[in-house]
Amino acid sequence: MLIVMKHSARPDEVDAVVRVIEEMGYEGRPIPGKQRVAIGLIGNDGKVDAGRLIALAGVLEVIEVTQPYKQVSREWREEPTIIELANGTVIGGREVVLMAGPCSVESEEQILGVARSLKDAGATVLRGGAFKPRTSPYAFQGLGVAGLRLLARAREETGMAIVTEALDPQGLEQVAEYADIVQIGARNMQNYSLLRAAGRAGVPVLLKRGMSATVRELLLAAEYVVNEGEARVILCERGLRSFDDHARNMLDLTAVVSVHELSHLPMIVDPSHGTGIRTKVPAMTRAAVAAGADGVMVEVHPDPDRSVSDAAQAMHPDDFAELVGEVRGIAREIGRDLVPPLG
Ligand code: PEP
Ligand code: MN
Repeated sequence: MLIVMKHSARPDEVDAVVRVIEEMGYEGRPIPGKQRVAIGLIGNDGKVDAGRLIALAGVLEVIEVTQPYKQVSREWREEPTIIELANGTVIGGREVVLMAGPCSVESEEQILGVARSLKDAGATVLRGGAFKPRTSPYAFQGLGVAGLRLLARAREETGMAIVTEALDPQGLEQVAEYADIVQIGARNMQNYSLLRAAGRAGVPVLLKRGMSATVRELLLAAEYVVNEGEARVILCERGLRSFDDHARNMLDLTAVVSVHELSHLPMIVDPSHGTGIRTKVPAMTRAAVAAGADGVMVEVHPDPDRSVSDAAQAMHPDDFAELVGEVRGIAREIGRDLVPPLG
């Protein structure tokens, strides 16, 4: 529930509303707006009787939030959430962000080399896993902290921001020390202790949709992060497990449209895990931008066939550069543009 205050409401009237909400056993969070203050009521798991609130001094109206998620909903906040990274990349506004990089950080030569090519191609965010969630315990698990240090070196050299995955609450603090964006992977979308820890880390979060999670479950997972105090959450569609094996996953681009209707959070698309096959990645990247995604995250490797993880979906940097030209045209066609390249 949202209690919208009158334009003329005084701070003591706002305080009084918060106190009454607390007396009712809930929490009241003032949300300053351009025109007026609203107070979000949280902590309820069902309908709240608004009778006591509507009569208080300074209250204009009481709005029911009909969705089970509250703070991430459009009802809670009409304007889109816009996230600015330290290198000037803005996510969630008019511009479409390009995130790219290898599945895993493998070596200094690999990550620095690919970062330089990606920067030249126009990407402003470098991805790369240092801690990898692998299906098999015998598969490469990532370079760990050494990988984080290599990512930091690539950032120093290129100015690209870093997005990298944290696998568990214990490791999250360390990842957050290095990352500009902490990624929570599909397998961990409903790892609630990890979501809570991510919400307290002080770093923007990239939350990937679970491979059989509904959009509602994705938004409820984001609500965990936001409810801990981190408003800078980026959602990511990365394909769903389906009955059909013609591609690794079934990329649900309708989710971009639905999320934009239901939530103010930015939504990007990962066409690499979404298809799992290199030759299908360009078309789905173009489609994602055409569908209104706020960005794309693409796996690119300097020697794709030799990628230690996800080789089948890795693109060559030259092919990525060509794709950037195509998506720039698509973005402009729909009144957007790409995030400007780094200088
Ligand atoms: C990844 O981004 O490398 C990754 C493991 O993705 P997902 O969690 O979507 O499978
Ligand atoms: Mn991968």
